Amino acid sequence: MSETPLFWAVECADGDPDFFVCMDCLNEVYRRKIPRECPDCNAISSFEAFTLASISDWGTEELISKAQHASSDDSGETQAPIDSTLAEPSSV
Ligand SMILES: [Zn+2]
Repeated sequence: MSETPLFWAVECADGDPDFFVCMDCLNEVYRRKIPRECPDCNAISSFEAFTLASISDWGTEELISKAQHASSDDSGETQAPIDSTLAEPSSV
């Protein structure tokens, strides 16, 4: 059984930092939403806002790639990437 984590949506103005990083494990990042608790380390309310540029500055490669993925995940604005590989089953 897989439980979808609960997220809070976060309103961000254009130009505001809209990536939220877990300051506890620095291993989870979400865009314009915050999970109730970190799925990686279970810390609660440990997320802080950063820009993608800022994360690229100090983040680990894994964190940066997660941030970039979260960025391209949001297809609400500008161009949506045409990529049908999202349906791939993820191995556990
Ligand atoms: Zn964490």
